[in-house]
Amino acid sequence: MSDFQKPAPKKTSYLVYSLIVAVILGGLLGHYAPPLAVKARIFGDIFLSLLFVLVVPLIMVSMICGVTNLGDIRHLERLGLKTLAYYLSTTLLAVILGLILVDIFNPGKNSHATPTEFLSARYSIVQTPFSGGSVLTFPDNEELLTSTIDPKRNHIFLIDQNIIGLIDTYGKITPRSIPIMRWLDVSGRKIEPSITGTGIRVRSEVKKITVSETVKSYVPRNIFQSMIEENIFPLIVFCLVFGTVLTTIGEKGKPLIAVVEAINVTIIKCVVLLMYLAPVGIFGLMAGSIGDAELSNPDGFIAEIVRLARYAITVLLGLLIHGSITLIIILKFVARRRPLKFFKNMIPQVLTAFSTGSSMATLPISITMITEKNKVSEKVADFVLPLGATINMDGTALYQVVATMFIAQTYNITLGLTEQIIVLLTATIGSIGAAGIPQAGLVTLIMVLKSVGLPVEGIAMILSIDWFIDRCRTTINTWGDVVGASVIDYYEGNRVRDDEY
Ligand code: ASP
Repeated sequence: MSDFQKPAPKKTSYLVYSLIVAVILGGLLGHYAPPLAVKARIFGDIFLSLLFVLVVPLIMVSMICGVTNLGDIRHLERLGLKTLAYYLSTTLLAVILGLILVDIFNPGKNSHATPTEFLSARYSIVQTPFSGGSVLTFPDNEELLTSTIDPKRNHIFLIDQNIIGLIDTYGKITPRSIPIMRWLDVSGRKIEPSITGTGIRVRSEVKKITVSETVKSYVPRNIFQSMIEENIFPLIVFCLVFGTVLTTIGEKGKPLIAVVEAINVTIIKCVVLLMYLAPVGIFGLMAGSIGDAELSNPDGFIAEIVRLARYAITVLLGLLIHGSITLIIILKFVARRRPLKFFKNMIPQVLTAFSTGSSMATLPISITMITEKNKVSEKVADFVLPLGATINMDGTALYQVVATMFIAQTYNITLGLTEQIIVLLTATIGSIGAAGIPQAGLVTLIMVLKSVGLPVEGIAMILSIDWFIDRCRTTINTWGDVVGASVIDYYEGNRVRDDEY
């Protein structure tokens, strides 16, 4: 390790304090001056792009280095199995905790499902000649209908005409109007609707995924395409195989291994540099998302959290218990680390996860901090963390269990023991299948809902605060990854003394 890569302790405390201040200031600006805060998002977007530009090369080289460092294939197999077994067990602990909490708090009991069907809503359609679209207007105030709509995820269904309206995401929704981009019949053909009618249904536009599609998507087909699409799992599979074969070709492979190692070190050095921009970036991300939430909820974001308080508290409490009790016990007694010191060193990682909502975007910082500050061996971190960012999502799994049970309770559907076990298992699979990007868990939640026959539309009820829950579950996802790396590191024989970190 060159000296350059080791940030001086002073700089780290400056970084930690400035990151905490950035999160608070961003949140305050978002709450009190949403229009300005939304403009400040540009700093966050630039920071996010700079992080993401490092992610794909970092995952590839760190995975190859991770494998080549291990040397022999039996060692790789052992480490791989240990890692998978560990990740799976902590995810199972998280889902069981989620289920226990739901059974204690019953967050959806006596709460009413947000209606998605408005049978008596009268409407008329007015063409907007310049944009080529139209506006769906309501002679009566339809606030209940219009306030629940998320233009990015919902579309409108005219019940009496059997046609779908795609909402224009650039237009403004008011209690009496919804801008529509185009109208389609049920087979997806463009259609001109009759201009008046009665009866509206709000439908959720959600990407459908199947288990076979998910499995297929894990197998690499074109690594450049996977790199462009930031489709990480096939890249990991490719690098695992490539790295393993590279170690078997002896002397011929050595120059390439040296090149890959040099790239790895250079990328980590870039991350250290990027951390100087992190306070501004994190400020922009926080301000932008709170500002957005304030603007899109008529009564403000806090009111929205309060409306869904029982659901939010159940998820957040679960995440808190998993992160600060279960994982801390593991960190202390299994990895034999000082939890407080370990956590303090990881604060930049925790705050990055919270403000980006992406395990993948956080990965460069996780690897840098855990090796530089917490002295986990690079050999282990390079292998365990990229894998963790993709498949280990304790927070997401816990959230999926709570969300599923909440939706069931709200619809007054009782799930028996067998169904609850199905929820536990599919939530575990759903968390493994979710990509490490913002709100990916919301997509795989559909699979969990479907596994027990719950209405997918139920997602609409938790949509408005999902971006916030996503930040919190991402924080626990990445915290679970680094605790996992320290456990595996311990069992790989790296005994870090208390005074070393
Ligand atoms: N955003 C989460 C992550 O990156 C995934 C999720 O949506 O739960 O870890």
